Amino acid sequence: MRLYEIAKKLGIPNKEVINILEKAGVKNKKTLSSITDKEYTIIEKHLGKKETPSPPVKKEEKTSKSVEKTIPEIKIKGDETVGELAKKLNVSSAELIKDLMEMKVLANINQKLDTETIKKICEKKGFTWTIEKKEIEKKEKQEIKVENLVPRAPVVTIMGHVDHGKTTILDTIRKTKVAEQEPGKITQKIGAYKITVNKHPIVFIDTPGHEAFTAMRAMGAKVTDIVVLVVAADEGVKPQTIEAIDHARSANVPIIVAVNKIDKVNANIDKVKQQLSEIGLVPDDWGGETVYVPVSGVTGEGIDDFLEMIILVGEMLELKADPTGPAEGVVIESKLDKKKGPLISVIIQKGVLKISDPFIAGSTWGKVKAMFDDKENKLNQAGPSTPVEILGAHDIATPGEKFQVVKSEKEAKKIVEQRKEEKTSYLPVKKITLEDLYKEIEKGTAKELKIILKCDTSGSIDAIKKSIEKIPQEEVEITIIHSGTGAISESDVLLASASNGIVIGFNVSVEPKAKELAKREGIEIKTYNVIYELIDELTRAIEGMLSPEIKEVLNGQAVVKKVFKIGKDQMVAGCIVVDGKVVINSKVKIIRDGKIIHEGVLSSLKRFKENVKEVGKNTECGIMVSDFSDFKEGDIIQSYTEEEVPKKLTQERK
Ligand code: GDP
Repeated sequence: MRLYEIAKKLGIPNKEVINILEKAGVKNKKTLSSITDKEYTIIEKHLGKKETPSPPVKKEEKTSKSVEKTIPEIKIKGDETVGELAKKLNVSSAELIKDLMEMKVLANINQKLDTETIKKICEKKGFTWTIEKKEIEKKEKQEIKVENLVPRAPVVTIMGHVDHGKTTILDTIRKTKVAEQEPGKITQKIGAYKITVNKHPIVFIDTPGHEAFTAMRAMGAKVTDIVVLVVAADEGVKPQTIEAIDHARSANVPIIVAVNKIDKVNANIDKVKQQLSEIGLVPDDWGGETVYVPVSGVTGEGIDDFLEMIILVGEMLELKADPTGPAEGVVIESKLDKKKGPLISVIIQKGVLKISDPFIAGSTWGKVKAMFDDKENKLNQAGPSTPVEILGAHDIATPGEKFQVVKSEKEAKKIVEQRKEEKTSYLPVKKITLEDLYKEIEKGTAKELKIILKCDTSGSIDAIKKSIEKIPQEEVEITIIHSGTGAISESDVLLASASNGIVIGFNVSVEPKAKELAKREGIEIKTYNVIYELIDELTRAIEGMLSPEIKEVLNGQAVVKKVFKIGKDQMVAGCIVVDGKVVINSKVKIIRDGKIIHEGVLSSLKRFKENVKEVGKNTECGIMVSDFSDFKEGDIIQSYTEEEVPKKLTQERK
């Protein structure tokens, strides 16, 4: 048996087993070392009565509180009529119509409501909700039968800083192993490849880096079993190395460190170990739990050991899958081929995929016409942990989308149409916001607030981390899952999305693409310039005390037709209201050529010579704006009212 297996059996940390052996004079044992019978006896003796160990206590069990509040839950379809919803909520239709009116929704008893409104009403009435899947989708879920489970190959993603050798290592493994096992075969990129080492298969995802890894997670897919962190021995730990570690940790995936470029004269393996130890990746030969392998992607040195370690760590994880029944998997790549049409690469995770199987893949469907592996071998079937390229989809799919075999093409088509119609089936689950954090805490559903923290300097990161530690965290724990310097990027938003966290920036900007993605994914981004404000807002969110913020509501807009001079340098804009109404003393924005050129207050509003309070659509009027007189014909004057709304961290959320 290996050390880790014994530790597992005994329910104690690997490190404790190493310590016991060291005390007894058995030195240099690592997590993956084999243990002799004699050594086993030493451990057993040391542990005395502990021969039948109690199962390890899970962390959550230790920390979770016994406070449980029950909030009634109802199932909704998401398109109920007022009458139907009233029945579900056990209230009269009249009461519901009144509630809707308060929410500015006018609806009669037979009118269908949209999902958002239904959710809001449920919350208002003190219910939580789950969206009921229509019958057809429900049938897709199958129970796991333990007796059917068989070992499967580990799926590995390579991550690390740019230029540290991820692609080189992937290519070297592929080339050498394919040449060894299937001479004359050329490999094609299908998103992943499978090799076999001493009869043990390993699957490598072909897109290295944490972006693709986290993008898939954000779609709800869990593909990777092991992350290999590549660190160049001549350069050591770099910002993206740390980013990759945080992404892997947030996914709860074990990390193997490949210390690369050991062929270089200035390679310093110990330095890498030292640097990574400081952030918790202590090598097993230093008494830690992390496996390190020195390699060279160029010369191939160490690659065999490296593959061996992947197999061992894979064994440690006891990866299993049920190879019976219809196939399920995850899309890892998809492209449109001019000759072949849409191609979808999938890693099968369960069951066996066969030719002619009808399938759905996220928002597309089809029937398996043909499938190929990464060596262009035609396959008739593919089992768990096999990457295959499938021909026969109607459209391309998105990496991370779920692949599923269904009974018939008819059913596949129906499900996809239903998904398109509902737009819910493949949308990400509801994400946490500071605004509803307290609600979630009260419900008992939020125990942790995960934060991605981006700052201008490492000094501010430290200062903010220290201040966050001081926030009382009895109800909910604040965890910073990643911190770094620089603008908020797509990768930060993806990490937040994949881990249901929020992104906080301090003195940094948000990249436009990140902003867009956050909007799509419903991720909260908030930037601050003052540490106190950041801490204050987090504290208040936890206490459910976020103060309302001011929201501008557009009253209407007027276009300047003519500009008049009155008095010395006072200008009046002769306008026509084109939309809504303009209101005296309201906030105004003056827009010229699509840009806001002034913001102020509508200080005077006249109809002919009369002072009036407001002027409606298609009516002429004279407008004066505080501190502004530079009107030009064609300017647009927008009138706003400010309203208090509960604080949200971004205005852009959907
Ligand atoms: P990636 O950005 O992490 O995918 O890095 P690449 O695989 O593209 O490698 C970046 C550069 O480092 C290339 O010029 C490689 O040839 C070189 N490189 C990669 N691995 C090694 C290695 O083990 N030894 C040496 N000397 N160079 C390497």
